[in-house]
Amino acid sequence: MVARILDGKAIRDSVLAELASRVEQAAHYGIRPGLAAVLVGEDPASKIYVRNKIRACDRIGAHSETLRLPAETTTPELVAVVEDLNGREDIDGILVQLPLPGHIDAQRVLGCVSPEKDVDGFHPVNVGKLASGQACLAPCTPRGLIEILKRSQIQIKGRHAVVVGRSNIVGKPAALLLLAEHATVTICHSRTPDLPTVCRRAEILVAAAGRPAMLTREHIGDGAVVLDVGINRLQDAATVHRLFAHDPRRLEGFDKSGSTLVGDVHPGDVAQCASAYTPVPGGVGPLTIAMLMSNTLAAASRRTPADAPMRA
Ligand code: NAD
Repeated sequence: MVARILDGKAIRDSVLAELASRVEQAAHYGIRPGLAAVLVGEDPASKIYVRNKIRACDRIGAHSETLRLPAETTTPELVAVVEDLNGREDIDGILVQLPLPGHIDAQRVLGCVSPEKDVDGFHPVNVGKLASGQACLAPCTPRGLIEILKRSQIQIKGRHAVVVGRSNIVGKPAALLLLAEHATVTICHSRTPDLPTVCRRAEILVAAAGRPAMLTREHIGDGAVVLDVGINRLQDAATVHRLFAHDPRRLEGFDKSGSTLVGDVHPGDVAQCASAYTPVPGGVGPLTIAMLMSNTLAAASRRTPADAPMRA
């Protein structure tokens, strides 16, 4: 069987094109959806993530701004910044880039974001709504998984989904969203005995453990759909050559740059066992920012009349 590659970049592009036309429609009502990103400190990876989110706003025509605060910012100072954004009519979505410096009480800060502007879906009100099956702003990476499945015409209803990982930002909300789509869901974690046997029963397997290439052929049932959330940077030449022995182009790239990305699923094994899978990079990752834009528009639609076409 030749596995189908689920192309996250192509899916992201069509999502963003649809969102761009909804932004245009919003302009008829005098509304421009707006996202504010709050970046505390100088973490280089966080700077890149925020820059990419701002670029996505530009691409769909939404307003965006980045508030850069020094690493020494205190919790009350950050709370004051968030509360100011809560009160602004032109800002629909607020995102506080994580991780925050260690001295800041992240829970307190995230709890101050207005639930209606909580485009990351991390506020306890949205977490509770998601768990109780109510409409809400749901976390972006898990939403991206559902989007990939739906836009690839892969049935979720009635199928057995196994989620490896129980984090609050990926594993748990992914399981809840799959449940809302009527999958039968099993959640696994680091204390699950006999992980391979549980995973092999999955018709849809979600890997979100943060362990490079951890899920191998013994975890993947024949014909499973595999969604790989993991993003792990590898620099060890022997490991890279072992994992990508089947992929000369990848090895060539690694030999030039000295690093490459791998997911939580063994890249050679998944291509042989799955019916469809998301590659790393270029699978789940691109959807995360697209879903952030989608959440921003959903938050902005509160400002439009109930029959406005931008309320998708
Ligand atoms: P996390 O470390 O918070 O959680 C990992 C989870 O995996 C835990 O619940 C743990 O119990 C489970 N786990 C760890 N080792 C295990 C094992 N040996 N067997 C079974 N379960 C095990 O990580 P996270 O924030 O959920 O992220 C998971 C991965 O997804 C990471 O690689 C991260 O970089 C990636 N990620 C990608 C995106 C994206 O946009 N594509 C977004 C967020 C996270």
